Order: sequence, then C-alpha cells, then structure tokens
Amino acid sequence: MTFAFPVAPPIGSEVSVDGHAYRLVGVEPYTRKHDGAASNLLTWEGTCLVEGCDGRFQVVTGLRESYRLRKGCDDHRGRQPGRKKLKGRKKS
Ligand SMILES: [Zn+2]
Repeated sequence: MTFAFPVAPPIGSEVSVDGHAYRLVGVEPYTRKHDGAASNLLTWEGTCLVEGCDGRFQVVTGLRESYRLRKGCDDHRGRQPGRKKLKGRKKS
C-alpha cells in the first residue's frame, strides 16, 4: 500500500490501508535529515485487527509511505490476517 499527501491532512482524517482504517490524531513539524526540507510526521491511530479485541495503537509515518503499517495492538502486533485462524471469526 502507499499513500502520499502533498501537505499534512487535517486531524481526524481517515485513510484505509489494505482495508484497515487509520485515523489521524497528530501532526508534528519535521525536518528531513537528508536534505533539510520541512515535512511532517503524522501520528495515526488504528484499531486492532483481531476480532473481539478493541485494543488501539498508534503508528507514526511521514507524508508519504509505501510499506505495511502494523494492524495489531501490542498483544497482537505480530499477527497478519489469513495467517492464522482466529477464534470466533465469522467470515470465512
Ligand atoms: Zn489486539
């Protein structure tokens, strides 16, 4: 997945990454180390992908990202959908 914002989106914006929603909860100014250009760090809040778990977690990205963001809370961060059958899962 990728996203790229020309400027920081407003707090509360949502993005969907691989079908998983993240809400923007923080924006901080940031100076890029390699060229000194002004940029932003975006803090996103996600909800754990494990059904029945309402754990929340935060991820920090730049304006432009092209890698897999975590989808699980601290207890479930290593899990990826489809790798393991989850108890109580209704969809098949
Ligand atoms: Zn969890």
